Amino acid sequence: MTNDSFAQRPPLTVFTDDEVAFRDAVADFTNGEVRPRVQAMERAAKIDPTLIPKYFELGLMGIQVPEEYGGAGGSLMMVTIAVEEISKVDAAAAIMVDVQNTLVLYPMLTYANDEQKARYLPRLCSDMVGAYALSEASSGSDAFAMQTRATPQPDGTWVLNGRKLWITNGAEAEFFLVFATVDPAKGYKGVTAFIVERGFAGFATGKKEDKLGIRASSTTELLFDNVPVPAANVLGPVGQGYKIAIETLNEGRIGIGAQMIGNAQGALDAAVVYLKERQQFGKALREFQGIQFQVAQAATELEAARLMVYNATRLKDAGHDIAITGAMAKLYASQVCQRVTSLAVELLGGAGYTKDYPVEKFYRDAKIGAIYEGTSNMQLQTIAKHVLK
Ligand SMILES: Cc1cc2nc3c(=O)[nH]c(=O)nc-3n(C[C@H](O)[C@H](O)[C@H](O)COP(=O)(O)OP(=O)(O)OC[C@H]3O[C@@H](n4cnc5c(N)ncnc54)[C@H](O)[C@@H]3O)c2cc1C
Repeated sequence: MTNDSFAQRPPLTVFTDDEVAFRDAVADFTNGEVRPRVQAMERAAKIDPTLIPKYFELGLMGIQVPEEYGGAGGSLMMVTIAVEEISKVDAAAAIMVDVQNTLVLYPMLTYANDEQKARYLPRLCSDMVGAYALSEASSGSDAFAMQTRATPQPDGTWVLNGRKLWITNGAEAEFFLVFATVDPAKGYKGVTAFIVERGFAGFATGKKEDKLGIRASSTTELLFDNVPVPAANVLGPVGQGYKIAIETLNEGRIGIGAQMIGNAQGALDAAVVYLKERQQFGKALREFQGIQFQVAQAATELEAARLMVYNATRLKDAGHDIAITGAMAKLYASQVCQRVTSLAVELLGGAGYTKDYPVEKFYRDAKIGAIYEGTSNMQLQTIAKHVLK
């Protein structure tokens, strides 16, 4: 079996005909619309604004939203497929799609009331990029120690004050799911979710981070200076924001797992192309058993990670709790992605260390998987609690 046919093999977890058709459509879109933009977006540290409407047109920004709201009426498996396919080419371009579907639309579908769904879902599926704002400077892993404050007003509205840090899509989003405490003395039971629009008075985007990887994805500060929020923009019950935040991240971690397996596959595919072409000691590098075994090990680990991500996705689609399987899938996929992308750089030798080849970007983009949506230590903490209970 050649490497080409291996790369094009059917997935071990059998996809339905619809999923295969969707995967092929996303792959065609990615090759046609994302691939030609990757280098310029990386250099500019910005998603090409002309790409975003194309995401919406293809239905990638509303995959699980019912058709009655303008969505694609699909499954989490389709989100996983989309994020994996785009990440094979650019993990930064993929994270915008991932955040929209897992961190913004999932909580809206699960917790929004009918009026909120009618008001926001059609826009979120057609032209409104969303963001999920939990982290702050002093509350990362300890997320519910947040300081952003929501103060109730006599007329039932709220006023938000504080700062969020590290917010993906911060530059492009018009819709922000913001977690704030209504009473710090209540600890996590004071945390409440609010829908904030970019146009609300007193809201601003702050500093944009200059990052190691996923450079085209915007990561910004959000500033709230006496931002008035209507009572109708509280998502879910007051004091239940912690539950929304946790459940949302449970689904979100599957998306990060998908990003990591896609990124690793992109690096491995690029290495395979090189190993067939590059000659040393009178033959192609792929002929050396030392290299064959390294590639075989990487491909095997990647397959295991992929199956973990697909399994967690299928479990979620079937209505099961995926707190543990999702944590395991994200942890392992991000570890494998770091190993595979590091190997890919080495397999290209000096060339792998330059920007003339894509593997150095895959390597830099791999690191974020161990950090966002809960660091690897936080995943281990979740898994250990379950195993040792
Ligand atoms: C590019 C990027 C995009 C992001 N996007 C978003 C977003 O869209 N929305 C959002 O809300 N947040 C976002 N984040 C924030 C991200 O989720 C946090 O950075 C992450 O949760 C870690 O928090 P921290 O950076 O404060 O690190 P810290 O919590 O300070 O952790 C530092 C180190 O200490 C370890 N550690 C902490 N506590 C423990 C413990 N109890 N036991 C063992 N080890 C521990 C951690 O594992 C880590 O290695 C993003 C971050 C980045 C870098």
